[in-house]
Amino acid sequence: MALTPVAQALQIILADAQFVAEAELVLLRNARGRVLAHDQFSSVDVPPADNSAMDGYALRAADSESKMPLPITQRIAAGSVGALLTPGTVARIFTGAELPAGADAVVMQEDCREQDGVLFLNDAVNHGENVRPRGQDIHIGQRLVNAGEVLRAADIALLAGSGIIEVPVYGRLKVALLSTGDELVEPGNTLAPGQIYNSNRPLLTGLLEQIGIEVVDLGIVADTAKATAEALQRAAQAADCVISTGGVSAGEEDHVRAQLELHGQLNLWKLNIKPGKPLAYGRMQGVPFFGLPGNPASAFVTFFLIVLPYLKKLQGLSQIEVATLKLPAAFEWLKAGKRQEYLRARIVASEAGFQTEIFSNQSSGVLASVAWANALAVIYPEQPVRRGQLIDVIPLNGFLN
Ligand code: AMP
Ligand code: MG
Repeated sequence: MALTPVAQALQIILADAQFVAEAELVLLRNARGRVLAHDQFSSVDVPPADNSAMDGYALRAADSESKMPLPITQRIAAGSVGALLTPGTVARIFTGAELPAGADAVVMQEDCREQDGVLFLNDAVNHGENVRPRGQDIHIGQRLVNAGEVLRAADIALLAGSGIIEVPVYGRLKVALLSTGDELVEPGNTLAPGQIYNSNRPLLTGLLEQIGIEVVDLGIVADTAKATAEALQRAAQAADCVISTGGVSAGEEDHVRAQLELHGQLNLWKLNIKPGKPLAYGRMQGVPFFGLPGNPASAFVTFFLIVLPYLKKLQGLSQIEVATLKLPAAFEWLKAGKRQEYLRARIVASEAGFQTEIFSNQSSGVLASVAWANALAVIYPEQPVRRGQLIDVIPLNGFLN
């Protein structure tokens, strides 16, 4: 079977992604990290009225031209409401307090002097000076957040600032996770000869939970046809999507692909990618299934490049592509082969600007490279990279947190 190029694999997989999430109303304070299901608009102006940007005195700008002393006739703190400002007088006012009717400017307290209830101005004041006009932040009818966006703290704040208390969001996706491999044990157990600790499980659980997905962890699966078939069937019943790691290569201890073909459907196998070649995609009882390679760096790279965009589409996100930057390489990679490579990399600031370094050991079994990286550097097939050359770099955007 020919290796499918990464871009083509992504196209095939995304075309097969059926958006399943339904909208539900949640309290705004519980909505962070959820995907907004309908555009949200403001029904109010923010701020709702002209207010003072400074501690000072509210006045009619025209009254400041003569530079005559002006009597102070009222005091307005934030949260209280003043009375109509009599022409030729000023109001003591504090930051955030609404201007009294009639006032159209505020003089900063540093630019004037108060004595015996009368204000002496240093200079004339301009109309609108130190005033935050009604609606300067948000106006009535303005769109606050678009459907398909993940609600971040600032979005929640923007919605709260318009008085919104609940929002429609898409339901959380459930993803079932399987770790295949007879050599795997969970931390907390003593390693017997031949065993290793399961690190893919916390890696994928964390990455999935970070994007708001509910993980159904189905534990470790033995390397037998029977155990694999049973696990795949159980997983498909438990979730909207199934992800397994390991057991997906062509060896006789690798049962995932064969059991998927037998009991479900294999749509894609083997990508032109390094690390991560033996990725399988298909369906099990109609439920999408990703069989990721067992090596942790391979599992990470294929999850980030292929599975993550797919899950974003399933979750109703409007922005699903990973971003690519062009940055100079602070390394040399002369051994570009036939497969498209994704080196675990770091974007670092230097005197010459940002550049890209790579981890010293790019072996697919080296999870430390993933923990170190904040980006992936792309090496295209047969295209060696020289130091200083501009290359494509994919920032990991906090997905390694
Ligand atoms: P496989 O894809 O099953 O052939 O596994 C490839 C390599 O990844 C082997 O060295 C496995 O021991 C290792 N591996 C598989 N699953 C995990 C896991 N969950 N955690 C850590 N390493 C794993
Ligand atoms: Mg294995």
